[in-house]
Amino acid sequence: MSPAPAIRRRQSKIVATLGPGSRSPKVVELLALAGVDVFRLNFSHGSHDDHRMAFETVRRTEARIGRPIGVLADLQGPKVRVGKFPEGKIRFGFNESLSLVAGETTDQAQTIPVPHPEILAVLAEGDEILANDGMVRFTVTQAGQSPKVTSALPGELGDRKGFTVRGKALPVQALTEKDKEDLAFAMDLGVDFVALSFVQTAEDIRTAKALITNKAPLIAKLEKPAAIDNLGDILNATDGVMVARGDLGVEFPAEEVPIIQRRIVRAARAAGKPVIVATQMLESMIDNAAPTRAEASDVATAIYQGSDAVMLSAETAVGRHPATAVAIMDRIIAATENAEDHPAAMAQFSGDAKDDLPVDIIADAAFRLAENAGATALALRTGSTRRLIRFSRQRGGVPVLYSSNDKPRLRRAQLLWGIHALEMGPAGDDGWVDRVHQRSGLAGATAWSAWRGEDEGDVSAWLMGVVEE
Ligand code: PEP
Repeated sequence: MSPAPAIRRRQSKIVATLGPGSRSPKVVELLALAGVDVFRLNFSHGSHDDHRMAFETVRRTEARIGRPIGVLADLQGPKVRVGKFPEGKIRFGFNESLSLVAGETTDQAQTIPVPHPEILAVLAEGDEILANDGMVRFTVTQAGQSPKVTSALPGELGDRKGFTVRGKALPVQALTEKDKEDLAFAMDLGVDFVALSFVQTAEDIRTAKALITNKAPLIAKLEKPAAIDNLGDILNATDGVMVARGDLGVEFPAEEVPIIQRRIVRAARAAGKPVIVATQMLESMIDNAAPTRAEASDVATAIYQGSDAVMLSAETAVGRHPATAVAIMDRIIAATENAEDHPAAMAQFSGDAKDDLPVDIIADAAFRLAENAGATALALRTGSTRRLIRFSRQRGGVPVLYSSNDKPRLRRAQLLWGIHALEMGPAGDDGWVDRVHQRSGLAGATAWSAWRGEDEGDVSAWLMGVVEE
């Protein structure tokens, strides 16, 4: 098949989750052509064989369509779950008294086994327990080795359902044994990003990074109250963050989620760490072929905030219209970015001038030059992903064409706002800017200048503007 157009008409990126509804080569190709920049493998579901097949399918699709595609391995993390009930579940009425016991299972009636005695030990009277993604709620009425709780609503709770305590930092490890096995498997595959779920502290990030050993950037999924409390330290330690609104919405009341989203995106942008906004963005498209107005507005809000990427979960993993969901997300992003007030929104929160590094000053100058010259793009050659990230952080007025022969770097660049990865080289010779331009598929244009910042803080980047003839 002919190569896909190298340059997308938008600067913000799309992450899409692969699952049973989308792992086939045909669907992966449709999704990539419709607009996916990074595919997510969700290790909360599926076997290693499923993920290996999906990974290989993405790599083959990438080779076929001629555009770099990133793969993100999302580790399940230390999600606390209840144990198993003798009959697979228990039922309870309104305001019924039940007990929690430490262990994998129990034979006592109206008792919930929790295989984490260390969590039972920190429960205090009045704590609110949420189970099964917030569908079941209990209040602790008596602390102790086997705490007593009462049910807030009638309902039922099944084997291995999720269990958390609202607003409380829980004494759990950053990575479970399953996470460690999944991580080793994902590193062997050669994934481009690793996401860690239920991060609570910067120490959790350091623990995961010690295992990843710089082989892939780490994305911290922010979904626990402790992570929001420790946001500054986590941003310092991590390579990127995800606003994981699914579990965030279990831990916090729904009305607080948009406020927390805005705070995280703003802080991540100022820190120059890529930020993904995730979960329920086009949720109704799991069944329907069109989104609700509210969903379109939700995607647009994340784009106005300057998120690097927006993510699809069940919509593409198990939904009935995976490619349509991606195509619609692509259209919403493009329309928002073309709106008259979008540049002003991008100019906000780009950091404090006094924190600027030499590379930030160069990036800012390059975008201004491009704007003054009426350039349609900046072509950038750099061997440093960090510099690429600083260019992206500017949220500049023209796309950045990043050309390289280094496939892992190109794939990582696909998550960054405004960076368009082109596999080609060698960079820097006389004809390079023309080749970059031709490859980008941008309208008739020619190179106008070349500049090499050899001395400025060792920013060995080539910058070239591309202008309309
Ligand atoms: C979330 O909770 O929003 C999330 C992205 O995580 P997962 O899809 O793994 O539950």
